[in-house]
Amino acid sequence: MLNNAIFNSVDICVGEYFKPRAALFKKLLGDRVVDSLLHMPLYTIEKVYSYPLSQNDIGKIVSTRVFVECVDYSNYSSRRPIKIWAKSGEAVVKIDLFNYKSVYAKKVFPIGKEIYISGKLTKSVDGFLQFVNPSKSLVKGKAGFSNVYPLSNGISSEGVYSVIKNALIILNNNNINEWIPDNVLRENNWKSFYESLFLIHNPNKIVENKLNFPEYQRICFDELLAEQLAMRLATPKTKNGNVIKNEKNLIKKLKSFLPFNLTKAQIFVINEIFKDMESGTSMTRLIQGDVGSGKTIVAVISALYAIESGYQCALLAPTEILARQHLEKIGSYFCKLGIKTEILTSNETGKRRKDIIYNMGSGESKILIGTHAILQDEVKFNNLGLVIIDEQHRFGVNQRLRLIEKGNTPHILSMTATPIPRTMILSQYGDIDVSFIKEKPIGRKEIITKALRIARVNDIIDSIKRIISLGQKVYWICPLIEESEKVDYTCVINRLNYMKNSFGTDAEMLHGKMKSEEKRSIFEKFSSGDFHILISTTVIEVGVDIPDATVIIIENAEKFGLAQLHQLRGRVGRSSLQSYCVLLYDDKKLSKIASERINIMKKTNDGFIIAEKDLILRGGGEIFGTKQSGQKQYKTFDFEDSDSQKYIYPILKQAAKLATAIINDSDSIDKYETLLKIFNKHNSQNIKNSF
Ligand code: ADP
Ligand code: MG
Repeated sequence: MLNNAIFNSVDICVGEYFKPRAALFKKLLGDRVVDSLLHMPLYTIEKVYSYPLSQNDIGKIVSTRVFVECVDYSNYSSRRPIKIWAKSGEAVVKIDLFNYKSVYAKKVFPIGKEIYISGKLTKSVDGFLQFVNPSKSLVKGKAGFSNVYPLSNGISSEGVYSVIKNALIILNNNNINEWIPDNVLRENNWKSFYESLFLIHNPNKIVENKLNFPEYQRICFDELLAEQLAMRLATPKTKNGNVIKNEKNLIKKLKSFLPFNLTKAQIFVINEIFKDMESGTSMTRLIQGDVGSGKTIVAVISALYAIESGYQCALLAPTEILARQHLEKIGSYFCKLGIKTEILTSNETGKRRKDIIYNMGSGESKILIGTHAILQDEVKFNNLGLVIIDEQHRFGVNQRLRLIEKGNTPHILSMTATPIPRTMILSQYGDIDVSFIKEKPIGRKEIITKALRIARVNDIIDSIKRIISLGQKVYWICPLIEESEKVDYTCVINRLNYMKNSFGTDAEMLHGKMKSEEKRSIFEKFSSGDFHILISTTVIEVGVDIPDATVIIIENAEKFGLAQLHQLRGRVGRSSLQSYCVLLYDDKKLSKIASERINIMKKTNDGFIIAEKDLILRGGGEIFGTKQSGQKQYKTFDFEDSDSQKYIYPILKQAAKLATAIINDSDSIDKYETLLKIFNKHNSQNIKNSF
């Protein structure tokens, strides 16, 4: 079944006419026949057939025929069009072709012939009926619906459709076995994989919200099912994991010099983790603990438990600043225990990088902290027993799988400060255990949050002076790095200049455009107290831990979502000192929702309550802080699109339920090999092994 022609190169679907552009098609549509079928339309349009054209048709999307009289290549350049003069009955029609090769123009618009085209009819500056880059109709000037696809330079929706049409024929001829059980199909009114794709690509109606239609729902289900299966196969709970059990000597030693006692909540979670690691079943556990609740030490203790049993450990962090901070904190603990801590980011290069990779591969080093750099193929472990993913919501499923695949069913510990609704957890992790750290370390005071109009910025300068005189530090967050013509928000550079007036060298800046060497140095200086005011963009948003920073000022607070405001505020309040958060807002831009957000921030410090309020404010649709940097995750839908979400959840629940049933019945899994391969989640060694 896996030799099915739908996995062949998409080249076989590119017709003679488009052959010279085959490489472009591949880039746009994907490598395989089936990938082109999953190239989803942006929207559909309805075309009316009109002949001969008249002024009444201006502004309409029409399908028509024109007689080509003359093609004018003079003045043609990368910016100027090829001009075609044609006739529709008696009316003159001007056709402008931008970015068109003259050979194609000659082929598509043969002089002295009548051809079928469609597109939006406009009026040229000189008053003629006009088309700009119309499509050549493959069907003879029929009215009806057609899709508009995501395109790239040199390829039209018609071109895309011609490939998809051939791909549909191949799919139909290769009758693949249905993987969705009959009852599920029936209950949802879904059709076969082929019929659904056929309808998507040959619409007979205007499609506004795609997931409102059964053909899209079905493909969405397939994609989610493939993902649910892949996650369960790659992180099997039922399989024997690595049993970790030892005297906990390293942990005892750590506790002897740790400057604080663990909280009850930390101890509880740590015990849950010990139990998981001892069980013989690999752990998949997510720790949800509010900002500053002390998740790092839980990770450290788990790592020591694994290391004492001879395993290696990897810690993935979303930003370089955070990875370096972990190196410093965790490294200082480990150093006292005689364990060397390695770090790998894009800044470790050349020999240094080679050595680190060698040491991990040989098993000489026991713990690797790093950014995305540790996901690269060259990074291999000798016996990776525990994977820790910090601020996990910053990573996509595939990124996490890539790290997990570097071990042999390693234990997995994810950490997040972002409360995630159950359905979301399901979609991102499949079947996972969740622990909560609901209590903060003893002696923490509630952060006091105030809101002020930006115009009153001067009023806080004195308070800042007082804070600094106590030796404490201040974060000052601005949305922009430099001034922008497009949006009117405060920028780091201007704010730094302003602050330098009062504070001189005690104020410095940090932002994403700085070289990472520079960033690191500034950050270290701030951390060690060389200066006290850090004007920064949101690069410091996650994880940064400088306990004697006690004030955070957030400018244009009206611009940020609740999740982000709460994360930013979590940079302070990390010691027994009283901390403050000042939200500076621009009252001209303050929408009703923004002012509600600011009120919530003033009222509570509890991340779980904030998450709930956030859901309500956003109409129950969008999900708190799940935005992942990077490319689009799903082919058939957009998780971030609030219109789609009410459809996605019910589909997701069904997919998760079916996935669990499939995994529990090991005989049935073979049926899903094609599905997994279609959605490309078939690259995992673990998945291959389980077939
Ligand atoms: P987060 O949960 O946001 O990742 P961290 O692990 O960075 O929080 O911890 C925040 C700060 O609290 C750190 O400086 C850490 O050393 C400290 N900390 C952690 N646990 C305790 C505790 N039980 N008592 C006192 N301080 C603690
Ligand atoms: Mg943290």
